[in-house]
Amino acid sequence: MSNLEQTLSIIKPDAVERNLDNEIKEMFKNKGFTILKEKKIQIEKSEAERFYKVHETKPFYDDLCTYLSSGPIVVMILEKNSAVLENRALMGSTNPTEAEEGTIRKKYGISIDKNSVHGSDSIENAKIEIDFFFKD
Ligand code: UDP
Ligand code: MG
Repeated sequence: MSNLEQTLSIIKPDAVERNLDNEIKEMFKNKGFTILKEKKIQIEKSEAERFYKVHETKPFYDDLCTYLSSGPIVVMILEKNSAVLENRALMGSTNPTEAEEGTIRKKYGISIDKNSVHGSDSIENAKIEIDFFFKD
């Protein structure tokens, strides 16, 4: 049974700054993800605000948008069976101190805000987020 999905992954500024992007990409590949497209970019704060609009009422929204636009990021389209859930599992909990062994956030995350990676949380949001960064 094939259930091929695509999801959006972002390697966040704290990880790119520490040159962890290749190691993190290896973790995806080792778990069977194909990286269909990728680019290293830096976004404006206004773009981060649009990307994280679902969080606009949260107390951490402004800091989050400042942070995501603070340095280069690597955005990727990942493909795998059940890619959305599989990516969330590989990422680990939002707070690295609560993340399971073997997850990206456990291994590399610094704090709940500098947690090294973003991943889409549903198939619907994956489509929206892939379009956000890769619509031609
Ligand atoms: N975040 C934060 N403080 C919090 C909760 C979240 O700084 O108390 C940041 C964190 O970088 C997180 C992002 O906001 O990755 C989006 O939050 P979400 O709850 O969607 O977590 P995720 O889906 O990234 O696990
Ligand atoms: Mg989220």
